Amino acid sequence: MTPAMRWREAGGVEWLEWRAGGVIAAFPSRVGGVSAPPFDTLNLGLSVNDEREHVVENRRRLCAAIGLPPERLVVPGQVHGTSLAWIGEADAGRGALDSPTVIREHDGLLTAEAGLGLVISYADCVPVVIVAEGEKGPLLATVHAGWRGMMAGIVGKAAAELAGRGRLVAAAVGPSIGPCCFAVDDELRRRFEARFPGSAGAATVDLWRCARRDLESAGVPSAAVSVAGLCTASDARFFSHRRDAGKTGRHLAVAWRQEA
Ligand SMILES: [Zn+2]
Repeated sequence: MTPAMRWREAGGVEWLEWRAGGVIAAFPSRVGGVSAPPFDTLNLGLSVNDEREHVVENRRRLCAAIGLPPERLVVPGQVHGTSLAWIGEADAGRGALDSPTVIREHDGLLTAEAGLGLVISYADCVPVVIVAEGEKGPLLATVHAGWRGMMAGIVGKAAAELAGRGRLVAAAVGPSIGPCCFAVDDELRRRFEARFPGSAGAATVDLWRCARRDLESAGVPSAAVSVAGLCTASDARFFSHRRDAGKTGRHLAVAWRQEA
């Protein structure tokens, strides 16, 4: 059965929750924070010219809502690349409340540790969470996939990395720009259609379909891939880099292995 995503709320913060194979993922909306326009209100990005204190307060609110303290978050410095990093206890808290300590130049994180919240920052790009069953319990990967990362194969690369240490059991594709809104020029459209047959519309690309394809190709069971199907550019509950012409906030998805 496909693991369900459902909306939850705590302390005014709302998030879409997904659970599978001993892993929990949270994809928040923009509601419940303290930031002023155009970052209203739950902007979780430190690199978008919002007030730093507001972002820190917003991150604290998200952490309180999902029940994972900031000292347990691990934040990557994303560059639209395909580098992956295995994360351990020594990394706990990196990038959680400041930028200099992020896991620099990585768009995918993986861990076997319980209670470490791997983070994906996004506002249209596709956040993907992948779960495997290892010998000593669940393993997970979090991936930031914009069109560049999707084309370069970071989703399949992360799934293959997990498959090297366990059995792939499930994956989630969070809210992100949908096939309704991701308009591309003809050259990019043709590149996507060649790499992901069936992904291109008349002048658009379906990144959700691309993610699903690479997850399934890597061995994630088709029925265990959950796609939120919520378009950040169409749905006012989300920040959208494209809709808001770059002047907007960032969501942070957080995924962690439950304590045994
Ligand atoms: Zn849309």
